[in-house]
Amino acid sequence: MIPDPRPVVPPPCGESALDPSARRRVCAEEAGHDGEHVAVTGYRWETPGAVLARLQQTWESTHRIAWTGTYWVATARDPRSRWRSHVEPTPAQLEADLRRHTGHPPIPRQRRETPR
Ligand SMILES: [Zn+2]
Repeated sequence: MIPDPRPVVPPPCGESALDPSARRRVCAEEAGHDGEHVAVTGYRWETPGAVLARLQQTWESTHRIAWTGTYWVATARDPRSRWRSHVEPTPAQLEADLRRHTGHPPIPRQRRETPR
């Protein structure tokens, strides 16, 4: 008796994210893989849950951070804030935006050059 053929290629992960150009990238790794998602183009991204936890920890004193499933959103806790909300396709862009508009994160993650 001939056994059923086993699938040679495991099913792909299929998670997707927007890259910095707001193009959708789909993860080509195996389903259930560890670590970052990686598209066939080589574009990598962290799982939204991991990113969300990190961003919330970094910015919790000044902003509420949310993931809509498509975009990253930061809302200033202070309603008088000049930049009340930020919406970006990637966590890196959201953080760059927050740094630009607040001047600094509450807990500096890395040393920066003297501004301007
Ligand atoms: Zn993946």
